[in-house]
Amino acid sequence: MILYDLNCENGHTFEAWFASSEQYDKQHKKKLINCPICNSNKVKKALMAPKLKGAKKSNKSFDEKKVLDENKKFKTKLKEFKQFIESNTEDVGKNFTEEAKKIYYGETKSRPIRGETTKEQAEELIEEGIPIAKLPWSSREDA
Ligand SMILES: [Zn+2]
Repeated sequence: MILYDLNCENGHTFEAWFASSEQYDKQHKKKLINCPICNSNKVKKALMAPKLKGAKKSNKSFDEKKVLDENKKFKTKLKEFKQFIESNTEDVGKNFTEEAKKIYYGETKSRPIRGETTKEQAEELIEEGIPIAKLPWSSREDA
């Protein structure tokens, strides 16, 4: 058995079962198929809207150029940020931990500083509640 969607000349749509597609052709030729609504025998198979299964709006292959552009933008921003930090902070190098503590406890002039800490020193400062931020570059790295 096969189910067809049929259209009559008057635009009615109806479904009809046939034993096979050959049977449909046979009945169609003999005009044995009638529209149940207007009884017209001028019917034809309705055009089935093709199902666009799996049609993708965009394939997920990432836009390489865009990624590179973003990366470039990020690097530029980072460079600007680095320049800003470097022109607005005093490089105290390896004395960072000591200086940070002195500033925090008011033993020296409060000023923004940058420098180096070991992981342990950084943890020590954080434990004492001294605000520090790790910069995404090494202070000894050339710009
Ligand atoms: Zn009809």
